[in-house]
Amino acid sequence: MRIPVSSLVSLCLLASLAIAQKSPGFDPAALDRKADPCVDFYQYACGAWIAANPVPPDQSRWGRFDALQERNREILREILETAAKPAPSRSAIDQKIGDFYAACMDEKTINGRGAAPLKPDLDRIAAISNKAAIPDAVAHLYRAGTTPFFRFGSSPDAKNSTQMIADLDQGGLGLPDRDYYFKTDEKSAETRKQYLAHVQRMFELLGAAPADAAKKAQAVMEIETALAKGSLDRVARRDPEKLYHKMPVKDLAAMDPGFEWGKFFQAVGAPRFQSLNVDVPDFVKALDSVIMTTSLDDLKTYLTWNLLRDTSEVLSAPFEEENYNFYSKTLRGTKEMRPRWKRCVDLTDGQLPDALGRKFVEKTLGPEGTRRTREMVEEIEKAMAADLQSLDWMTPQTKEQALVKLHGVLNKIGTKENWLTYTNVKIAREDIYGDAERTSRFEVERQLSKIGKPVDKKDWGMSQPTVNAYYDPQQNNINFPAGILQPPFYDNNMDDAVNYGAIGAVIGHELTHGFDDEGRQFDAKGNLRDWWTEADAKAFDQRAGCLVNQYGGYTAVDDIKLNGKLTLGENTADNGGLRLAYAALMEKLAGKEPPERDGFTAMQRFFLGWGQIWCEGRTEEVARLRAQTDPHSPGRYRVNGVVSNMPEEFQKAFACTTGQPMVKGPACRVW
Ligand SMILES: [Zn+2]
Repeated sequence: MRIPVSSLVSLCLLASLAIAQKSPGFDPAALDRKADPCVDFYQYACGAWIAANPVPPDQSRWGRFDALQERNREILREILETAAKPAPSRSAIDQKIGDFYAACMDEKTINGRGAAPLKPDLDRIAAISNKAAIPDAVAHLYRAGTTPFFRFGSSPDAKNSTQMIADLDQGGLGLPDRDYYFKTDEKSAETRKQYLAHVQRMFELLGAAPADAAKKAQAVMEIETALAKGSLDRVARRDPEKLYHKMPVKDLAAMDPGFEWGKFFQAVGAPRFQSLNVDVPDFVKALDSVIMTTSLDDLKTYLTWNLLRDTSEVLSAPFEEENYNFYSKTLRGTKEMRPRWKRCVDLTDGQLPDALGRKFVEKTLGPEGTRRTREMVEEIEKAMAADLQSLDWMTPQTKEQALVKLHGVLNKIGTKENWLTYTNVKIAREDIYGDAERTSRFEVERQLSKIGKPVDKKDWGMSQPTVNAYYDPQQNNINFPAGILQPPFYDNNMDDAVNYGAIGAVIGHELTHGFDDEGRQFDAKGNLRDWWTEADAKAFDQRAGCLVNQYGGYTAVDDIKLNGKLTLGENTADNGGLRLAYAALMEKLAGKEPPERDGFTAMQRFFLGWGQIWCEGRTEEVARLRAQTDPHSPGRYRVNGVVSNMPEEFQKAFACTTGQPMVKGPACRVW
């Protein structure tokens, strides 16, 4: 089953035109000193930064987070430009990443070819003469990196977490979420209209006449709406039990006789298997009905649309621009397309993550940062153990299990043990379409080859240059790529107070994911198994309910509120994370009061360290989109929501008057 790993931010890649400068862990120039920290701490910590850093035109969100990603991107660019110079002394890795990047940057060749690279794939779709041939065609698209109708891959067996099994999940939608197909408000209806127009224009670019292209767009919309109807919503998907239905392959076949699964599994290159997990059985039934009732022509149109959408970034400018216009401009509110080099850096990072990531780690990861982060992880795990032992709402029985789980957490910091080398993947300097297809095929084969094998806990779900971190509930490990072990998250030149408030709280955040509404349902070994007494589970739900209400009351944009249930796991992690970091820092300071720095006490710097990692601005459009799809709260609430749940500590740090907004309570607390 596809349990999303819980990360610090969603995995959306963003970039900017702004020149990336190194900014310190705590930046006094970012403060708005006119604001009162006790009234609006976010404004105080970030006000001047936000005023001086409007969202750049090629961005939909711009925060200190994104500024760091931008700096990493520049380092990657340097690596890639050097690797792209064809020298006889180039290493095999440099040939792969250098030529991939060069092929992507070669606009002239790409534009000269127009839609020609699509031809073999389009011909294959055109040749489908009956519905029985669809599984083969879908498998072919899958192997090239396009995923029509559903998602298929490998995943740990949720109830036998050492074993990888085949996994079939809902998918196949072109809009960001199932709810986009059904919401009746004006804005949603308008978005669907714009989506239809976009699909139509993509078909026109392929040469269809406007009326025909409009019909095709309508067919796509009908199929996707039917698939969306069978899909679970994002809140329901937070419950792992709802996504676990392991069954023999023949039961799947009986559920969906319209699609010959055996044929698909073979053609896609999966090893033979007897049983698999079907995340959402209702979705499979919806898919069956789509295949049975839709005309062959319309099904072929849908396959073509998926191909177009998923390859547009390696096609000529008109395709790329049309894709940008809908997905970035309309949906996210960006004003202009990112420069080509940024798109190509991200594409190389996405398609050859280990080849590029390895060079990035060599260049950026210092032993000092790794050592201090590792130490902090250990201290924060100790703080969590102490916290668990001190809880007044949990029985000794459940506490014991929680401690076993905590002690079972594996920490992965800053680098990978086994790097992929892509030895047999051909990268051609003049063929980005083929390069993208071949690298996708490599990854599809790699993921499918895991079926039936033991889980490889050394593998990563994120590339090393990524500014992010994650907890994997099925492996019970926390993962910190090299990309995040830099300012403003971790800064060698900063005092402990700032580093604990920033990367320390991030470590606590990931650790707490093991004990949020979703993570708590997995045990120390990563198995979906209920280890809670009924009373403890009830007490947990009650505490979590407080956070649901608190965050559900915050406004994202206009009259749209945050979804308290969708964001519960991340909010739990933020609140637990900062509290654990605070406890660990207290332990470290051992009652000593370090001298003030920049005019701030250690306690003030701790909270400012937290506040300033979330300084950000966002477009209205992306605020709307994220309110529906992002399990993370916007920066403002990640800061104010959390500090107002630590009223005692915060009041002491900033000498607030009882009753001021940041300290007035009632405070929510789970961990
Ligand atoms: Zn998270």
